[in-house]
Amino acid sequence: MQRYDQKRAPAVTAQDEFFEFLFSGSAVTYADLKSKSTKQEPLTPSTLKGVTLTFVVDADYTITRTRLTRNVVGIVEGSDPRLKSTYVGFGAHYDHTGYRDNAPVTRQGQSPPGDPNDRINNGADDDGSGTVALMALARAFATGPKPRRSLLFVWHAGEESGLLGSRYHADFPVVPLDSLVAMLNIDMIGRNRDNKETERNTVYVVGSDRISTELHNLNEEANASLAKPLQLDYEMNDPADPESIYTRSDHYSYAAKGIPIIFYYTGPHPDHHRPSDSVEKILFEKMTRITQLVYATAQRAANLDHAPARDNKGPRAVGEGKREKGEGKR
Ligand SMILES: [Zn+2]
Repeated sequence: MQRYDQKRAPAVTAQDEFFEFLFSGSAVTYADLKSKSTKQEPLTPSTLKGVTLTFVVDADYTITRTRLTRNVVGIVEGSDPRLKSTYVGFGAHYDHTGYRDNAPVTRQGQSPPGDPNDRINNGADDDGSGTVALMALARAFATGPKPRRSLLFVWHAGEESGLLGSRYHADFPVVPLDSLVAMLNIDMIGRNRDNKETERNTVYVVGSDRISTELHNLNEEANASLAKPLQLDYEMNDPADPESIYTRSDHYSYAAKGIPIIFYYTGPHPDHHRPSDSVEKILFEKMTRITQLVYATAQRAANLDHAPARDNKGPRAVGEGKREKGEGKR
């Protein structure tokens, strides 16, 4: 899904220790670069001193299979003549992982839940739930009162293959990227984490405070305005989260370009990426309430007279989340 007609700089992935070493002889420190990039501040070009890097690149490849796909996009026009050229975006992915190739045995050597002859990874939660939530949101905004800004709905392709559709759309957006004031991504909102009944009121909110505190606050206010507010859990927004959930769904492609995002998620469960992620397990009432939260948040963001301020303070909700959980404040 990358465009082969355009040059792309090679990306190098390594741990912090490597980069600290790499910059150790230079005037610029790695810590400084990292903190500037977190704050979305411009990085000035500099030269590495005292190190020589040699890359051995084997760029030979054979194309074994080409598959083409599309993102699906819809727009509902806003009501304000000036603000309607700016957008609140919504994302969900409509691809999934296809068929299970191998014999139905789990890593622990047991049979997984569900029909052993069913080889289709149904993806009802991942991300059938987000896909239909977006359709409901699009219908609500198309038929109900119009906010001042326009609404952009993107059903992304290729998420499971590495956020391909969202990365493509962030690189080649259908509306100017600087007109997108926020991106609300929904990926798996139809279940309880690990099937725990105690989770029935919980939605994991990831990334909301990282780029725009104002957007984070809009989501909190929107939740408080609901007849039955949800428990907003920020555990998975912890930068030390071993699963790195913040980088693992389509919102990340937009966040990487500095756009304020919120990721809504109800957490992992044993049916993830298995045939047993099937529709009869979807908790429709919970899913509806989360979709109503997304609606209320979007409505607020789309009616603001200014774009949600990008203060780039990074994740702060870790402690808050724990406090709330521990002391039952919310
Ligand atoms: Zn997904």
